[in-house]
Amino acid sequence: MHIADRISRLGTETAFAVAARAAAHKAAGHEVFPFHLGDMNIPTPANVMEAACRAMRAGKTGYCPSPGIPELRDALALDVNAARGTSYAMENVAIQPGGKPVIGKFIMACMNPGEEVLYPNPGYPIYESQIEYHGGVAVPYRYLRDTSGFHIDLDHLQSLITPRTRAIIINDLQNPLGAQCSDAERNRLAELAMRHDLAVLLDEAYFDIRYGGKSVSLASIPGMAERSVILYTFSKKFAMTGWRLGAAIGPREIIDVVAKLNVNDESCSNHFVQHGALEGLTGDQSGPLAILSTLKERRDAAVELLNSMSGVDCPSPEATFYLFPEVTELMSRKGFTDDYASFAEDILVKTGVSLCTRLHFGRPLHGEERRFIRLAYSGIDVDGIRKGLLALK
Ligand code: PLP
Repeated sequence: MHIADRISRLGTETAFAVAARAAAHKAAGHEVFPFHLGDMNIPTPANVMEAACRAMRAGKTGYCPSPGIPELRDALALDVNAARGTSYAMENVAIQPGGKPVIGKFIMACMNPGEEVLYPNPGYPIYESQIEYHGGVAVPYRYLRDTSGFHIDLDHLQSLITPRTRAIIINDLQNPLGAQCSDAERNRLAELAMRHDLAVLLDEAYFDIRYGGKSVSLASIPGMAERSVILYTFSKKFAMTGWRLGAAIGPREIIDVVAKLNVNDESCSNHFVQHGALEGLTGDQSGPLAILSTLKERRDAAVELLNSMSGVDCPSPEATFYLFPEVTELMSRKGFTDDYASFAEDILVKTGVSLCTRLHFGRPLHGEERRFIRLAYSGIDVDGIRKGLLALK
């Protein structure tokens, strides 16, 4: 059968391949400590589940408007405005079947084939995949590490902007690094986007997964809301990864395009799930608070153990549920200087710890000599974290 050429440019989220390998190891009778995927083993808050069930029984099982039910669009605009200081209305919100679909739709709306889009590396692999699939040139920008954690190398980023650059993807509160921008860094990014007239995808998947301080959106900087699309998701804050619900939030001219893509692709997002999400936004907030405190306890346990291991150095991010420890010394001690794949397989077989390495988040950029792994603690409880990481020692 003939397969279209563009498919050869489509990448994937390789963490799912690690999940399949871990599942096979478990099926063969071994204990597995799942640190590989940003999925969650925490239940969705009960009030959200009940509201979705009620909606289902009340017949909310047919199609609904393509950009989402008006009550949810309205509530989400208000919620986002309260947290970010923006002034969106429901017309600025297009509900999506997850946050991930916003990436491809943003690319389709803002980039022509042959144009360049800047994206983070290490970063969420779907950015590069979608840019290349749609015929664009994916241009990775890098991060620097200091004692406080990872920061975008803004001079490097600036040097990558050309007359063909159309857009930039920014994942402040970053997967896999746990990095977050300072105010000064955010201002400089905004200044660059405005000076070069770039469309901006603000991937804010982890905006609400924060253990201290307050998240700040680039959309709150004057001039930025007009050129940005926020990727919003219900997946993490409400432990709803499998429900598949998110939103694109931005200027009407882009959101109307996104909604038109919805009509073509999905017709609409799951109807009764939207009623569950509405309860999540407007109802009792003890669920998301409990989720955060569970995650914080896991982070603290994992960071403490990792930093007690010789050859491992792990900053403690204030946001996301990922850790990105340096393991250069550990890897060479175990005889795997730069062979990430064999290192991860060896760890899985010998300890049951399933993890992603730096390689799962883009090709290493020129000059990278230090080695890193990514540990997600959203799908493993404190006991598992302790047992797994002690085995790793
Ligand atoms: N963006 C980032 C950075 C992510 O890590 C994820 C999921 O892990 C997503 C977007 C998409 O999440 P979802 O499609 O579940 O909303």
